[in-house]
Amino acid sequence: MNTAARFAGRLALVTGGASGIGAASARELTANDAQVVVADLDGDRAAALAAQLDGALARTVDVRERAAVESLFASLPRAPDVLVTCAGGAPRSAALDTDEATFEGALQLNAGGFWRCAQLAARAAIAAQRPLAIVHVASSLHRGPAPGLAHFAAAKAASVTLVRCLAQEWATHRIRVNAVIPGPVETPMTTPVWDRAPGLRESLLAGLPLGRIGTPPDVAHAIAWLASDEASWVTGTLLQVDGGLEVAP
Ligand code: NAD
Repeated sequence: MNTAARFAGRLALVTGGASGIGAASARELTANDAQVVVADLDGDRAAALAAQLDGALARTVDVRERAAVESLFASLPRAPDVLVTCAGGAPRSAALDTDEATFEGALQLNAGGFWRCAQLAARAAIAAQRPLAIVHVASSLHRGPAPGLAHFAAAKAASVTLVRCLAQEWATHRIRVNAVIPGPVETPMTTPVWDRAPGLRESLLAGLPLGRIGTPPDVAHAIAWLASDEASWVTGTLLQVDGGLEVAP
């Protein structure tokens, strides 16, 4: 399939775009002729990546902060055609020990960050009378159980419910809202954790019928498809990109 130029003339905002799945998405969208805005808490890494991508822009943003997200949108050249929300994560913490700040922080980043970026992107698209494709990066942990990550799993669960609600509420505005549900993917977030825990990578692998841990491009390809016109009749979908985790025996 010739997928080149699927995003010619389109502006794509990628939050958490400086690393891992977000960086792979920024590369994939650029390879398909989008102009990408790499938006990340780590502004230096965002700028370093944007410098490698044709036409890309870099922005520093903390998606937990309403004012920061408003400034981000005010700084864009125009309303984005594509929003990919990858900014996410949480420190590991056993549920018995998890404090209020850790719990609230997980919600603010993984559910709130998605919600406020989606809301501002939707408002901008409606004002500009343009269609919009939103792709959120959730997690296979959203259904639980998730030992040491209950706060993260709960926040991702909230985010996938938002995906379905927003898809329904915004469809008449030509705004599609979908999510990818990645299984374990080797990224700068996961590699150090898996390296520190003997046997963890092997036990993850044992639960993946397709026989390998995911790579950022595995997820980025699915994100690009959901963001493209090839998925123009797809909204409210949770697309598992997980090596078969969900159908493991
Ligand atoms: P990563 O650490 O490589 O990338 C995450 C990026 O988000 C980083 O660049 C980080 O600076 C940025 N970020 C963090 N907090 C932010 C904030 N408050 N505002 C703006 N940017 C912020 O991690 P990754 O593995 O690529 O994760 C990307 C997304 O995929 C996350 O939402 C994660 O929960 C999800 N996910 C990852 C896996 C996996 O196995 N790697 C599995 C399922 C879901």
